[in-house]
Amino acid sequence: MFYGAIEAGGTKMNCAVADERSIIDECSLPTTTPEETMAAIFAFFDKYTLATMGVGSFGPIGIDPQQETYGKILATPKKGWQQFDFLGTLKKRYPATRFAWTTDVNAAAFGELKQGAAQGMRSCVYLTIGTGIGAGIVINEEIFQGAGHPEVGHTFVKRYPQDDYVGTCPYHKDCLEGLAAGPSLEARTGIKGQHLPKDHEIWDLQAFYIGQALVNITLTVAPDRIVLGGGVMNQPHLLTKIHDQFTEQMAGYMETPAVTEYIVAWGLPNKSGIIGSLLLGKEAQ
Ligand code: ADP
Ligand code: ZN
Repeated sequence: MFYGAIEAGGTKMNCAVADERSIIDECSLPTTTPEETMAAIFAFFDKYTLATMGVGSFGPIGIDPQQETYGKILATPKKGWQQFDFLGTLKKRYPATRFAWTTDVNAAAFGELKQGAAQGMRSCVYLTIGTGIGAGIVINEEIFQGAGHPEVGHTFVKRYPQDDYVGTCPYHKDCLEGLAAGPSLEARTGIKGQHLPKDHEIWDLQAFYIGQALVNITLTVAPDRIVLGGGVMNQPHLLTKIHDQFTEQMAGYMETPAVTEYIVAWGLPNKSGIIGSLLLGKEAQ
């Protein structure tokens, strides 16, 4: 029996096939037009008869089966993909396969809960800080979503003292993503995050915003654990600063586990999304 998974990103599509035990085949394809990209995806998966497939997609996406938008990519800035019926196109090609469909960050949160840094927990929030900021929420071992999926990256945060940077979000300018995703590090300093020295003062500002976002998440969701991933978290010293900011800004109001246990780095670096998609697929009815 084979199980498929797609971690669908705006830059690349990571595809995997697993048997009962482990991943046996993988590929990473560039995300170009839907026609070209889907043809490449089919070429990879056509070699297998898949019992299930889990898809964790960039968004926003339609996730309510009762709505006409279900399975589609919605208001993405990615050209050609707006309103693309991603799930429908896959189902048409593989009619005998059972599908799971959610956001990339929800899939990653699920992967971290089942096999990563939040194993043994019943709930977790996974926050990625990369080109954008996004969060997936798992509560009682199930993905949390309403009529739509959460968009934590676009929530608002109070400003760091003296920060007058306008923000990179095309919709809101200075939402969390606009002030604290990878591109804002480069926009503020002229240096890409990966090349910034550890002692640069920007990391205090960065930790201020992420710490604050984690306070907001804690106050709203009260998860068992928060897992941080994404390119910007490849800075190990940043996690300590985030712990300090979280403690300071929470100001003793809400009790959480010890901060180093509560806010942790991802356990499946760059793999949470594909593993989570695979596992969600296996649970699909
Ligand atoms: P994506 O979000 O596109 O999937 P990543 O999670 O790798 O990809 O995030 C890319 C962003 O993270 C870029 O803005 C990049 O400059 C930044 N980044 C990558 N590596 C590091 C690093 N070691 N330290 C800080 N920022 C980094
Ligand atoms: Zn925004």
